[in-house]
Amino acid sequence: MPIPKWKIKGIVDDHDTCGCCGRRGLKRTVAMMPLDADGNEDGTAEDVVYYGTSCAATALSWTQAKVTDTARTAQAERDQRDNWARRIISIYAPVEFAPVHDKARVYYGRNQHQRDTGVKATEKVAKLLTEARATLADTTTGPARPSRIEDFRRYVVIFNRDGGISLVRRVPEEEAERQEQAAAAQRRAEKIRGRLLVVAALDAEAARDVAYADNLTREWNTKAWQATHA
Ligand SMILES: [Zn+2]
Repeated sequence: MPIPKWKIKGIVDDHDTCGCCGRRGLKRTVAMMPLDADGNEDGTAEDVVYYGTSCAATALSWTQAKVTDTARTAQAERDQRDNWARRIISIYAPVEFAPVHDKARVYYGRNQHQRDTGVKATEKVAKLLTEARATLADTTTGPARPSRIEDFRRYVVIFNRDGGISLVRRVPEEEAERQEQAAAAQRRAEKIRGRLLVVAALDAEAARDVAYADNLTREWNTKAWQATHA
C-alpha cells in the first residue's frame, strides 16, 4: 500500500470553503496535515488544509464514509486530549512556582508508583505543563483554548456521604447570585449529609479532579485563584 499523503486531524465547522476545489458553504470540512515520504507529519497547524469530504476522499483514495468516520474519531481524540490538558493544568499550574518540596508532594501524591524511581517531580511537572499547554494552543481544528491560571473559573463541588461527587456547578460572577448559590449548596450538602468545596479549574471536569485531590494540591489551587483574582 502506498503511504498516504495526508493525515486527518479532525472535522471542523469554522472553515466552510474546500481548500481543494474552492466549493463554498460547506457545513464542515476535514482538517488534513501533509505527511512526508516516510508518513511523518510534515508541518504545523499553518500547513493544515481543510477539504470537503468528497475532495478529501479523492486525495486519500478512500470512501467518503471512511473519511467522515476517521475525521470524527480524530476529533473525539483531540477533545479527550484537551480534557486531559485542562486537568493537568488545573492540578499542576498552581504549584509550578511552589517550593520544590510542595511540588514533589503534589506530584508523587498522584504518581505513587514513581516515588522511589528517582523521577524528578520538578522536571515531570514542567514537562506535563508544556505538553498540556501545547495541546490547548494547537489550532489545527479550531481556535486555541484557554489554558492559563487567569482562565480558571470557580466551581462549587458537593460530595455525598460516601465521598463521591454529587454535583459540580460553576460559581456565578455576580455577588448576589453567588451568595444565593452558596446558600443553596450548603442546604443541599446538609440534606445529603455531605460536604462542600470550592475549587478553581479550567472546566467542570477538571474541577472534579481538583476536588478529589489532596489538601496540599487544593491549598495551592486556592492560592493561585486568589493571586490572579484578588
Ligand atoms: Zn473540494
